Amino acid sequence: VIALRDVSLTLGEGASSVHVLKGVSLDVAGGEATGIVGPSGSGKSTLLMVLAGLERVDSGTVRIAGELLNGKSEDQIASFRGRNIGIVFQSFHLIPNMTALENVAVPLELAGHADPFGVAARELAAVGLSDRVTHYPGELSGGEQQRVAIARALAPSPRILIADEPTGNLDQATGKQIADLLFAKAAERGMTLVLVTHDPALAARCSRQVSMRSGRIEDAPKSVRVPA
Ligand code: ATP
Ligand code: MG
Repeated sequence: VIALRDVSLTLGEGASSVHVLKGVSLDVAGGEATGIVGPSGSGKSTLLMVLAGLERVDSGTVRIAGELLNGKSEDQIASFRGRNIGIVFQSFHLIPNMTALENVAVPLELAGHADPFGVAARELAAVGLSDRVTHYPGELSGGEQQRVAIARALAPSPRILIADEPTGNLDQATGKQIADLLFAKAAERGMTLVLVTHDPALAARCSRQVSMRSGRIEDAPKSVRVPA
């Protein structure tokens, strides 16, 4: 469902320009859970941005859910993303002056959904937040905010769920609950999950681990390397 071929990307201008991705190829099968690990600055978040169509590549091809993103217009990519990809961030990225319900419903409404508030209420219930729908983000705990963000990502029924350190701002117990929720939802809905994490325990729960270093994908993580 994801096929990257020899993707390269330089970000920034002049003295601050960085060759962030240096010929990355990655295939992810539908329904698979892939954990991306690697040192800070190795290009993990940038790779997720490319998968989400939020960053264009300088060379190489990006094929997601059968569609080639290279060459699509911004509008085409935005609409493609809305239909196919849900995104969860480390810092939740909720809109502070909207309630939990509005945070989930408004993007659906903007996308022309027939029943945004009904779906939003169901998705919040599905992450265990039925009793927090009228709370604002500032009135929610970190774990609850991340649940809202997950409900928002799941609401359009995306095929692919992308998560950048989804447990990075949470204590260990809350992080485990959020990880349990992500894996449960992905399995229940047959979604493909691609997550970046610094937590080895979370990476180990993925069906596959991909290790990045200096803008490249390393052959195979040591733990699964098979002797020739
Ligand atoms: P972390 O684990 O710390 O989140 P990461 O693997 O997610 O790191 P990225 O955020 O993908 O790393 O960044 C990779 C490299 O690209 C970093 O060295 C960063 O400084 C550089 N970089 C990212 N965005 C830009 C930009 N807009 N302009 C210049 N350099 C950038
Ligand atoms: Mg990052």
